[in-house]
Amino acid sequence: MSCELTQRFVSGYLDGELDLVRTIEMETHLKNCAVCSRELENQQALRDALRRGSLAYAAPAALRERIQSSLNASTRDVPKRTRSWSTLPIWQWAAAFAVLAVCSVTAWQFAAGVHTPSNDQRIAAEVFASHVRSLEANHLMDVASTDQHTVKPWFDGKLDFSPPVEDLASDGYPLVGGRLDYLQGREVAALVYQRRKHFINVFVWPDGSGLSLARAVESRQGYNLMRWSRSGFQFWAASDISAPDLAEFVRLLEIRVSP
Ligand SMILES: [Zn+2]
Repeated sequence: MSCELTQRFVSGYLDGELDLVRTIEMETHLKNCAVCSRELENQQALRDALRRGSLAYAAPAALRERIQSSLNASTRDVPKRTRSWSTLPIWQWAAAFAVLAVCSVTAWQFAAGVHTPSNDQRIAAEVFASHVRSLEANHLMDVASTDQHTVKPWFDGKLDFSPPVEDLASDGYPLVGGRLDYLQGREVAALVYQRRKHFINVFVWPDGSGLSLARAVESRQGYNLMRWSRSGFQFWAASDISAPDLAEFVRLLEIRVSP
């Protein structure tokens, strides 16, 4: 049996629909052909996945009707009593199965995309919660100092990285301290800056994703969030200062932390 013929009969073989002679020919070929036996394994794996439901996503009734009506349209000229689902040729079953499989996977990915918050949204929720907690719990700073040469060494031995610490007092955003915080399942540095009576938390942790420009992530309940990456670190700033003020602060900090 040729490869072409073998691969065409794989579905029928898996469904036990081949006669004895064909089955023996198939198995003889599969024993000696890596390409075809891989094809068999792939189809088996797809079937198992669909049966387990790990890929399955119920196709909407409208889709079922569309497939049914397009199959009906393509067989309209054939007398009805000779056609039914059980007598459809195997290639039509295969086509319908393929359409359903593709739709299932697409719908599943679509559903996953719609209902799963992006990574940025998940981090934003954690940053927002940490910022609010630091203000409410009166636990803004573990080390209170306006001197970056005091704050930076304070992190030594407490974190497995050394965060960049810059004072922006000359620009109206003095550094007032720092603390350890916990985000994304790891310890991070939180640097605290002040703008008049408002505080800005800057969360810093190592990030291999390279340089990305600062952008506002979101504002909620009067707080603004911005994120950026630089010098191998990811930065998140949270504050209740106005969005333009926070953007200015971030721009100044970006300049100080050279890439
Ligand atoms: Zn083959």
